Amino acid sequence: MRLVRSIFGLFLLASASWAANPLRIYFVDVEGGQATLLVAPNGQTMLIDTGFDSFGGRDAVRIEKAMKDADKKKLDYLVITHFHPDHAGGVKNIVGLFPVGTFIDHGTPVDTNKYSDDYAAAIAKSKHQVVTPGDKIKMKDLTVTIAAAAGKDRPGTGTPNRWCEGLTPRGGATGEDPQSVGLLIELGKFRFFDPGDLPYDRLLGVLCPTNQIGKIDLYLPARHGAEGPKATYDMAARVAVVNNAARKGGAAAGWKVLSESRDIDDIWQLHYAVDAGGEGNSRDAVIANLVPSGDEDGKFLKVEALPDGSFTVTNTRNKYLKKYGAR
Ligand SMILES: [Zn+2]
Ligand SMILES: [Zn+2]
Repeated sequence: MRLVRSIFGLFLLASASWAANPLRIYFVDVEGGQATLLVAPNGQTMLIDTGFDSFGGRDAVRIEKAMKDADKKKLDYLVITHFHPDHAGGVKNIVGLFPVGTFIDHGTPVDTNKYSDDYAAAIAKSKHQVVTPGDKIKMKDLTVTIAAAAGKDRPGTGTPNRWCEGLTPRGGATGEDPQSVGLLIELGKFRFFDPGDLPYDRLLGVLCPTNQIGKIDLYLPARHGAEGPKATYDMAARVAVVNNAARKGGAAAGWKVLSESRDIDDIWQLHYAVDAGGEGNSRDAVIANLVPSGDEDGKFLKVEALPDGSFTVTNTRNKYLKKYGAR
């Protein structure tokens, strides 16, 4: 009887873990912008950025493809990390396709343009939340914490970061990039950091002298794979997904810094980075698009993560997938 009971118990345990929905993260190919779709285990959705407006609404079509894959018709949250055309450009197209529950951003744009005007029109009749560092966005299964916004972070929080030694600010970054909303997304032990386009000096702010993010599993390298400070090593990400285009982002110097982290297992890329050549690209299997994609194309990378910290990354171009176990 005891044997029967324990076998039955095992069966229940196994079926419970199989039944748990993963957190799905779609890294949509918007050719060097950002459009990252989160689908929580309970089905709630959050889109982080909308890609470009130009190219005949190409990026909205690609985001729609990811929404179809997830069987979703509504965005509970739309986060705009900052008001650059490769992030906020597609707002008008997206609100034409899906109802949006709440818009989230860093506040008044420091660079105004057509896209910030489109955005102002979109939020006029909707729920809208301006976030500051430390805020939590209420999603039932996920903990979403704002790590940076409007040029600020959470000084005094986190643990000392030994990688900060000798790193100094480089200066030069102004405008919207330093304003980026940076998000830490957690499902149980699984942790993902999306810093938007935070430049080098702002990453130093978030990671030095204390690492305000902690350890993570998955990292979206800031500014589409531009060179980041080695202070990022303290986050100990196992996997990076670079949202570059064939000729935007995906810098060889950025790839090199990432690849030299002792914790990194793989750097997945949305595109083969033409100018980075053999020294700044991963193996073909983990690259979603090997040639500049056409209007209908643009393969996405999909992550499925579980609360124990394990996750799978799938390349929709070649169906190559890799599992990363719980730590
Ligand atoms: Zn960008
Ligand atoms: Zn930007």
